[in-house]
Amino acid sequence: MKKSSLIYLAVGIILAGFVLYMVRAEKKIERTEFLMDTIVNSVIYTRNRRQGVNALSSAFGEMYRLEIILDRHHTDSEVFVLNRDAGTRPIVVSAEALDVIKKSLQVGEQTGGAFDITIAPLINLWRFGSADVYVPSENELAQTVKLVDFRRVQVNNNDGTVFLDGGGTELDLGGIAKGYIVDMAIEALLEQGITSAYLDAGGDIRVIGEKPDGSAWRIGVRHPRDRRGIIAIVELRDKAIVTSGDYERFFVVDDVRYHHIIDPKTGEPSRGIISVTVIAPDAFTADAYSTALFVLGLEKGMEIIESLPELEAIMITEDEQVHITSGLAGKVEIRQ
Ligand code: ADP
Ligand code: MG
Repeated sequence: MKKSSLIYLAVGIILAGFVLYMVRAEKKIERTEFLMDTIVNSVIYTRNRRQGVNALSSAFGEMYRLEIILDRHHTDSEVFVLNRDAGTRPIVVSAEALDVIKKSLQVGEQTGGAFDITIAPLINLWRFGSADVYVPSENELAQTVKLVDFRRVQVNNNDGTVFLDGGGTELDLGGIAKGYIVDMAIEALLEQGITSAYLDAGGDIRVIGEKPDGSAWRIGVRHPRDRRGIIAIVELRDKAIVTSGDYERFFVVDDVRYHHIIDPKTGEPSRGIISVTVIAPDAFTADAYSTALFVLGLEKGMEIIESLPELEAIMITEDEQVHITSGLAGKVEIRQ
């Protein structure tokens, strides 16, 4: 063989190898959009770019669809109708709404009412979500607390209906909607065969598998008092991690910080804890428990979470001390 043909052959082999490598290489596909009142960021790795793009578009489709069903402020939502007709008639709702409500009531039971989806009258009283926030009087708080009780929510599985028993009862799924929606989006990715993904809806995070190099997804937990700082790093595979903090949505009056996680018993923003992160198999559970633990406080919160083997938590108290469940010992990097 001539020298020149040998060179052609070598170049050909290298090119073929390169093309093969490119085809087989995992491609990183990202998509970021603003929905559910927050930034939703997703990353997936796949060899098949088209499959990846399609999977992401069905995941985002699910999120847009469910956001409307579960948002009580949206006049087309099922929750809007449930609240409007509270105390008058049972309402037929979608399988998804039924599912969210049933799971939420279970967490209500498990947390002694610290997590309560009938919190809406209190959220309204404080005017969270509007520009003109307001500090209610003791009398107003006492009156409104009486309206909050998840036992007033009656689910009929056979008819697929929900009845809010009592005028003035109102649902607010803000404490779990994001978690539930993240789970449904992850289901959509799994159905499309995605085996490596990261989905973050403003701090409600769930991952599929691991990164293509075999490493876990590294998730930073934000420092509750230092905007750009990270207080802990957790490595996860096939899990969800959700943080509830008093720094997300709050206002300050006379040097007092009022935030949007309310103790259903007092009607006031829960004190003592400034951030709770929960790690769970799914984002719904992590989201519900992060809100509940915030209300329960360090001692009761830790007791409940330690009794649930699949859940782990990082709780940060007012004095900025970081507390972790026994299952996280040696598995979380704390930076203080
Ligand atoms: P974020 O919205 O910042 O992710 P959370 O998941 O903790 O934080 O949700 C806070 C929202 O949950 C509030 O805006 C309100 O809609 C709702 N909420 C507040 N207190 C409670 C409670 N005790 N139980 C259930 N939901 C609550
Ligand atoms: Mg929550």
